Amino acid sequence: MTIKLPALKLRITPPAESAVRDGHPWIFSNSITKQNRDGVSGEYAVVYDRNNEFLCIGLYDPFSPLRVRVLHAGKPITLDGAWWRARFERALRLRTDLATPQTTGFRYCNGESDGWPGFVLDRYDTTLVIKLYSTAWFSHLNRLLELIVDRLAPESIVLRLSRNIQQTAEEAGLADGQVSFGPPIQKPVTFFENGLLFHADVIRGQKTGFFLDQRENRKKVQGLAEHRDVLNVFSFAGGFSLYAAAGGARSATDLDISRHALEQAKQNFGLNQSDSNVARCEHYVIQADAFEWLENPSPASYDLIVLDPPSMAKKEIERTEAIRAYGHLVKQALLRLRKQGILVAASCSAHVSAEEFFEAIQAAIRRSRRTFEVLKTTRHPQDHPAAFREASYLKCLYARISD
Ligand code: SAH
Repeated sequence: MTIKLPALKLRITPPAESAVRDGHPWIFSNSITKQNRDGVSGEYAVVYDRNNEFLCIGLYDPFSPLRVRVLHAGKPITLDGAWWRARFERALRLRTDLATPQTTGFRYCNGESDGWPGFVLDRYDTTLVIKLYSTAWFSHLNRLLELIVDRLAPESIVLRLSRNIQQTAEEAGLADGQVSFGPPIQKPVTFFENGLLFHADVIRGQKTGFFLDQRENRKKVQGLAEHRDVLNVFSFAGGFSLYAAAGGARSATDLDISRHALEQAKQNFGLNQSDSNVARCEHYVIQADAFEWLENPSPASYDLIVLDPPSMAKKEIERTEAIRAYGHLVKQALLRLRKQGILVAASCSAHVSAEEFFEAIQAAIRRSRRTFEVLKTTRHPQDHPAAFREASYLKCLYARISD
């Protein structure tokens, strides 16, 4: 006989309560003041306010300091199948104009900011990739797979797990990179982005296999690259340089520490040889630590340099150092940027605000005594909405350096 537990009920501190009312989706373990019993991963936790009124309902995760991820706040509701379906439809509606024959890779669901906290769903043509950041999703997975298959009819669905939940996943019979729906994946997954073909390593690659969040910035680089020699620092699979090649770049050089990423970059150029601009562009790869490589003096110079490093501030205390390190990166890159060159500087550090980042880049250019003009700044693309401060990580500045 299974014993039905009473609903899991919590009370939280007044500041945490205000944050939830303001739409923040996280409740940390240290802001929980009362709890009627121990919670199980994935069960719904109902949070009551100081007047004992319903505040919100969320997914409970006993393995994370981020103890409850809010699914709904406001009036009491029942999270039944219809609710989950409606939530999913809301996310899909935001992307209806994104899917075209030219773009078959994009994000369907961006975690918290689409109302599925800690749950990401990416599309690579007919393959979907789920990435989970909390064990709380494990017990909901089958139901969600059914919903996704029913609505999107993919060929296969791959499951990816953030590193910190992989061990608990093993105990639940789940593994990073497993195919959770459809036949085993035997050939590389390919997809289109703005008419260019790319491979995505959905089983082992970084994130879900590709950095879909840079699609719009890549497209802008395409429009700026004609007749230029392009250096793509932290290139991953060559996304920026392939767009630059399609835009008429003379040469494109990918620099990354990962041999695997550079192999993919070569393959991606190979996939697009029917594009005469890509076929004409000289493609080079350099496997190196970008920070060290930029320190070494070199006669090579470029007309367009992209800097897109991994997050340099994973924690708040790393913020100041990250800003300093970024400034240094810009200084070193500018030594290789020709007159009338373009610098494209992106950051994915959530702890560094867009304003701080843009200011730091401009300060670094000024310190190099170069004359410049900011052409553009960008933030999150449509399929990567950022609904709260911590989710807002992506920013990019374009500057023309005239002398
Ligand atoms: N611009 C890419 C995404 C970059 S992600 C795109 O458009 O898809 C960051 C990349 O930096 C990863 O590919 C990672 O392998 C690489 N990387 C991390 N540390 C590095 C280092 N010290 N030197 C060079 N590359 C590094």
